[in-house]
Amino acid sequence: MDSKILQLKDYIDEAEIVVFFGGAGVSTESGLPDYRSRNGQYTEMEEQNLDPKVIMSRKYLIENPEAFFNRPKKSVAIPEPNDAHKTLAKMEQAGKDIRVITQNVDGLHQKAGHRFVLELHGHNRTWYCMECSRVYEPEEVERDERHIPRCPIEQGIVRPSVVLFGENPDKGVLEKSRETIHKADLLIIAGTSLTVNPAKNLIHRFKGKRVVVINNEEIDTGKLKVDLYIEGKVGETFKAINE
Ligand SMILES: [Zn+2]
Repeated sequence: MDSKILQLKDYIDEAEIVVFFGGAGVSTESGLPDYRSRNGQYTEMEEQNLDPKVIMSRKYLIENPEAFFNRPKKSVAIPEPNDAHKTLAKMEQAGKDIRVITQNVDGLHQKAGHRFVLELHGHNRTWYCMECSRVYEPEEVERDERHIPRCPIEQGIVRPSVVLFGENPDKGVLEKSRETIHKADLLIIAGTSLTVNPAKNLIHRFKGKRVVVINNEEIDTGKLKVDLYIEGKVGETFKAINE
């Protein structure tokens, strides 16, 4: 086993509370494009002269609901958890206190069976009415003649429970994330460039022993000292731990 993988394994074994802080790079091996990578959705949108910060924003949803909900999408296979999601869930099931904080909205940690997951940017599992807050399953939402999902009660727009540009993360989730990072002994930052908030600020709540970064390129962690940097894919790294 690679010495860095061995080191990571030791850190995990030694720690009482592990926080796995993940971003888009955790799901790329499940076939989900990293918005900021070359083959990602961002690039695709940019090619069509659509600025993702515009069309994935609250403002755009409210002003152009028809376009927001009917943007042509490449059909993608239903994503499945990869070795990162699966290994973390397996460790938790074996009794390790591993707490996931994710910037992804794909629900793959839960799909792998992980119990402790905080979703900073919300999720796609349920949609809700922007007028009355009634909650719907995405596939049961009725659409009007312009194909805009509507709540039958007040005709409010029904939308995914994800945090769009121009919106703040859920306060409860944010507070719990702060507490969770503060309590951890080991912080594993994986597949994230840490360029956006709240991620950028949150990591500085860490007061524990070790910090590990797993990413395909170096990232700026500011004043937070990194003990171990593993350059590479997150899924592959966790697969190697297993072997
Ligand atoms: Zn409603």
